[in-house]
Amino acid sequence: MVPLEELYVTVVGILLLAALGACIPVLLQIFRDGLERQRKRTSGERNRGTEADDADSSASARQRTETTARLTCDHCGATNDSEFSYCRCCLERL
Ligand SMILES: [Zn+2]
Repeated sequence: MVPLEELYVTVVGILLLAALGACIPVLLQIFRDGLERQRKRTSGERNRGTEADDADSSASARQRTETTARLTCDHCGATNDSEFSYCRCCLERL
């Protein structure tokens, strides 16, 4: 006759193995979903990041060209060419 403890351990072990076997496909599916989601998120972030970088660089370049090519009058706010010494609208010194 098999001792009760040994029977108990055997039954529990078989149940654990069965549960693990049933869980493995689900866990693999969850793992694959997680990987897929992470890859999508990182690629999306990378795309968003490059877009933001491009927008930032173009905006700063535009601002740079504006500041080099044009001057804004402190008195009336009119834009004047950088070679002007006096505002073309209010004739104040730039
Ligand atoms: Zn002015």
